[in-house]
Amino acid sequence: MAKRDYYEVLGVPKNASKDDIKKAYRKLAIQYHPDKNPGNKEAEDKFKEATEAYEILGDDQKKSAYDQFGFAGVDGMAGQGDFSQTFRGFEDIFGDFSGIFDTFFGGGGRRSSGSGGVRQGANLRYDIEIPFKDAVFGTKVEIQYTKNDACPTCKGTGAANGSGKKVCPVCQGSGQVRHSQGFFSVASPCHNCRGEGYIIEQPCRDCGGGGTQRKRQKIMVTIPAGVENGKRVAIPRQGDAGPGGGPPGDLYVFIRIKPHDYFERQDLDLYCAVPISITQAALGAEIHVSTLDGKNLKVKVPPGTPNGRLLRIRDEGVPSGTRRGSFWIKLLVRVPEKLSKRGRELLEEFSKTEGENDSPKPIALADMGEQ
Ligand SMILES: [Zn+2]
Ligand SMILES: [Zn+2]
Repeated sequence: MAKRDYYEVLGVPKNASKDDIKKAYRKLAIQYHPDKNPGNKEAEDKFKEATEAYEILGDDQKKSAYDQFGFAGVDGMAGQGDFSQTFRGFEDIFGDFSGIFDTFFGGGGRRSSGSGGVRQGANLRYDIEIPFKDAVFGTKVEIQYTKNDACPTCKGTGAANGSGKKVCPVCQGSGQVRHSQGFFSVASPCHNCRGEGYIIEQPCRDCGGGGTQRKRQKIMVTIPAGVENGKRVAIPRQGDAGPGGGPPGDLYVFIRIKPHDYFERQDLDLYCAVPISITQAALGAEIHVSTLDGKNLKVKVPPGTPNGRLLRIRDEGVPSGTRRGSFWIKLLVRVPEKLSKRGRELLEEFSKTEGENDSPKPIALADMGEQ
């Protein structure tokens, strides 16, 4: 199915304010919320669609990427992250829907570890921008972020010293309650235990029974050489701690690469353009060109070089395992804009010696200048 434009999904104009976007999403989210439309697949799809649109348009950075490049600009940004993370800040608008988002999106935060119903914590997302050169050769970046960490007092269990868990009396441990809706019976997360299936007899004082606390943490992230724009680096177990002592989720570091002033990249090859004079092009020359890592290369310009000729230097491109791509130098022949008196005389003499064709035959545009 073709994707609908995010502005169309939310029914707002392109110049809508942040507030209008939020209001439009709130209206749709309430209308199509799975709580209000149990078992209704169409409402569920509409709700997901609106949520994805809001995930992009509600975030200044993602919105501007979407405005500039459309879906390509935000590819992989929506839906891959953790929704409970996105919504953590919106409890004021929606009330506590966490139980619903959990079961609804079924993301990485919901894998069961198989031991007594404890669940894995949420995956987290962190965005960084790195210089072009660091993306080519790899780097280490220290990042700081806040996550839910296991409460040290109760070791993440949420239970005060010595007390245990008991099966939730409302759902008998299933974590779900069923209601009748006409002919249907519909399951939704149990509110008494927030879908956990058990309740803690004596909640830990330090974390209120949740088993987690917010913690700021610093970690070193290794960015591999040759990383591509928009790719992510997964750091296992550095996401949120699981509720009730469950295993932590993962941290995903999304990478954006700052463009370089003059180097460009295509897969494993690097490109740059270098101006040369008409005499260097005609007579041939030896020039010096810096590589991205600052090496000074001696490069031979062959006599009779046409404008746009590409010179290939092997093994000076992007590293990948044991090999490297090529470095391509595009030679741009510069015609002098101003001539000295002497320069003019010499060129006039050259013109006389060589003769000029005053009726040149047209050639195909594709052959023009470059080769
Ligand atoms: Zn605790
Ligand atoms: Zn329950």
